[in-house]
Amino acid sequence: MPELREDPITGRRVIVAPGRSARPRTATTGGPVETARAAPGRDPACPFCPGNEHETPPEVARYGDGGPDTPGWRVRAVPNLYPVVGGDGGGALGGAHEVVVSSPAHDRPLDRLDPPQARDVVRMLRDRAAYHLGRGRAHAQPFVNQGRAAGASIAHPHAQLVALDVVPPEVARLAARFADAGRDLVAEQMREERAGARAVLDMDGAALAWCPAASPSPWFVRCALRDAGARFDEATDEHVDAIADVLRAVLTSVRAVLGPVDHNVVVHTAARGGGWPCHWWVDVVPRTSVAAGFEIATGLDVCAVEPADAAASLREARCG
Ligand SMILES: [Zn+2]
Repeated sequence: MPELREDPITGRRVIVAPGRSARPRTATTGGPVETARAAPGRDPACPFCPGNEHETPPEVARYGDGGPDTPGWRVRAVPNLYPVVGGDGGGALGGAHEVVVSSPAHDRPLDRLDPPQARDVVRMLRDRAAYHLGRGRAHAQPFVNQGRAAGASIAHPHAQLVALDVVPPEVARLAARFADAGRDLVAEQMREERAGARAVLDMDGAALAWCPAASPSPWFVRCALRDAGARFDEATDEHVDAIADVLRAVLTSVRAVLGPVDHNVVVHTAARGGGWPCHWWVDVVPRTSVAAGFEIATGLDVCAVEPADAAASLREARCG
């Protein structure tokens, strides 16, 4: 029976309609899920592969060895060649758009990296966010688009950071909602979900991953740290490493259950001005469905998998 639910953290409403995942599919040719194709370890035509550093704009940061724009790096940050912000034309929105190349390997998304490498990716995102906010940008938004269905245009796994001179509307809305609530809604959810049927992974209470009851899409997983602050850019190495480990484990489970599915990873963090009495947190969004006419028209998401069932499968994949 379809049910209307509201996310206690974001306030967004969703219709959970598990029966819909069983409906026959005849409108597509390739099946419902566009999965990442197997990719070779190196692609000579790829601008993010080692040896092709000159094909990106000059790098702004690296971890590893070697000089700028030469091989030897473990993680490399470069300006996006096609930025959504920045530039100096009239009416241009000020900001910076950067790509963090996750590793030299052409075919290893976050869950296929070894743990130190995955931690380096998240540390670089934090460091670049801190850099831009330290220079006066209003908000820094980290995210991962993995695979074409998730919005990636280059196959080589990478993360992105967009730093803005304005606070985006959804970030402002959440900050106002949290201020109104007068309590930490993320901490509250962590306490509630920890012992429940929707928990996916629990690192002794210090970190938790769960499938929210009002998940906006199937297999959606939320990850949070008990002791995190409001801003991702101010996270300690310890916190960054913990969330990288959680993300890697969650994405490994997602791959075990769904195969190599395209996905987004989205950090929710306060803007520089703050007003966000909550933890920062991270949502993992496998792209097994698309928002269609109803969702676009109404602002109501439809989730065709019961989140408790999704959590059970993801837990099982971890243990098995
Ligand atoms: Zn590549």
